[in-house]
Amino acid sequence: MTQTTVYPARKIITMNPMQPEATHVAVRDGRILAVGDLARMQAWGDYTLDERFADKVLMPGLVEGHCHLKEGSVWDMHYLGWFDRRDPQGKVWSGLRSMEAVVARLAEIDAQMRSAGKGDAEPLIAWGFDPIYFGGERMTVEHLDRASTTRSIVITHSNGHIMNVNSAMLRLADITRDNEVEGVVKFRSGANAGEPTGELQEPAAKFLVIRKIGDAGVLAPMTEAGVRSFAALACMQGVTTATDLVNKLTDTDCKVLESALADDAYSIRILPAFQAFHGTHGAALGAEHVKSLLPRNTDRLRYGLVKMMLDGSIQGFSARLRWPGYFNGAPNGIWVTAPAQYEADFETYHRAGLLIHTHTNADEASEVAIDAIERVLTRAPRPDHRHTLQHGQMIDAPLFRRMAALGLCANLFTNHLWYWGDQHYEMTMGPDRANRLDACASALAAGVPLAIHSDAPVTPLGPLFTAWCAVNRVTPSGRVLGEAERISVPQALHAITLGPAWTLKLDHEIGSIECGKRADFCVLEDDPLAVEPMALKDVRVWGTVLSGRVFEARKD
Ligand SMILES: [Zn+2]
Repeated sequence: MTQTTVYPARKIITMNPMQPEATHVAVRDGRILAVGDLARMQAWGDYTLDERFADKVLMPGLVEGHCHLKEGSVWDMHYLGWFDRRDPQGKVWSGLRSMEAVVARLAEIDAQMRSAGKGDAEPLIAWGFDPIYFGGERMTVEHLDRASTTRSIVITHSNGHIMNVNSAMLRLADITRDNEVEGVVKFRSGANAGEPTGELQEPAAKFLVIRKIGDAGVLAPMTEAGVRSFAALACMQGVTTATDLVNKLTDTDCKVLESALADDAYSIRILPAFQAFHGTHGAALGAEHVKSLLPRNTDRLRYGLVKMMLDGSIQGFSARLRWPGYFNGAPNGIWVTAPAQYEADFETYHRAGLLIHTHTNADEASEVAIDAIERVLTRAPRPDHRHTLQHGQMIDAPLFRRMAALGLCANLFTNHLWYWGDQHYEMTMGPDRANRLDACASALAAGVPLAIHSDAPVTPLGPLFTAWCAVNRVTPSGRVLGEAERISVPQALHAITLGPAWTLKLDHEIGSIECGKRADFCVLEDDPLAVEPMALKDVRVWGTVLSGRVFEARKD
């Protein structure tokens, strides 16, 4: 005889339009048995009444459709971001508000490493940096050499696409003025004209450094400790299902995931997406590899997603924009995958029956993806494919209408409205296009299935914050970017539950509270539908329930 547990709550937001609210939910075998009032629960026979959520608000477990498990382990490196940020232990690291402060912090870390007995052979690796907040001055070896001329320094930008290194690292990696690899930036004028600046854009250029420092830092392989740390962070944000949207899925990666997620102590369901670019596999082998993993799926671990990538980062000026290009006149960005290669590889994965998520940051990349996918779907129609464009930050109404016609989904990067909204307005794309950055209302008007995301660790994991961005569209300077693109709180809550669940082909299992679905809940202290829209980001999370198991978030 299986056990039934009935949870009364102050309010249950179901996200099921047929029954939007309830006071009780019954759970049996990790699934939702009934939703409604106590009388409806009693109709199912014996039950245990568990009143721990009696004064809480329940909603479906939140779904993060684009983030990275690295959010849990990136703190093994040194944080150099502009915004204050809390690490998984709850410590808040102050933002660094000038290039000088960044250099001073690096010099301090170098000194600490030295007194801990770590000599010059050990590189200093840091993350979260973005020079765009300092008014457009780019970082070069001249800055970093002030921190150390002898220890290699490697800094990854918060966008994950760009790296800066000092002269010691350039020497170690043998990067000179003769290097022809695309993305190795050189001084355009001055005494050093033609010499590398130390800025390396996108994978081909970054690889010159990565092959020398091995798996240290930026490309450190996933560990169980990292997955555990990610799960703890996710619980604090009410997230029960998350993607790891670039994973090589080597034997080691799969072992770590399978061993960690077999443990009932993990409060998270993970969907790792196979890295189908810059890999050692051709697309046909890649598709076989992903398909061979499918029989190993469990409730908490779901293989089957494929991640492709077209362009770079808008705020890093490596994304591909259509006319009129970058507002500040920067040259157009980089094709991380050449368009013809993208189309050929996409077709291979598509024909293999897999679900493909494509990174397209700026509008030329989004248009190239839509053109390619339209041709592939003409050659190889497939019902209900749910292929998804990820980020899609500059997609306009005509492109959304084409996406709707092709059955494509959009997962928009609304956290950009806050984190880079002012920089997009003033520097990267200018007012016209910044006012339709991450155009959620246009996507919904066109009928495109919509999800929104954080891309953690690019920005912090927190779907209620991501929803707050989509609802309010405010920037740190107080601008509202395109009032007409605001969406309502219920629409935004859909875009962090059922919306992403649809893009992951899991909407039949998760994303709403109704009979038959997994008992996944986000447990809140406040009611997101009752607070002011500007307070949505401050709604307090108590913890989560994953397939019927209760997890209280760690309190700081
Ligand atoms: Zn990402």
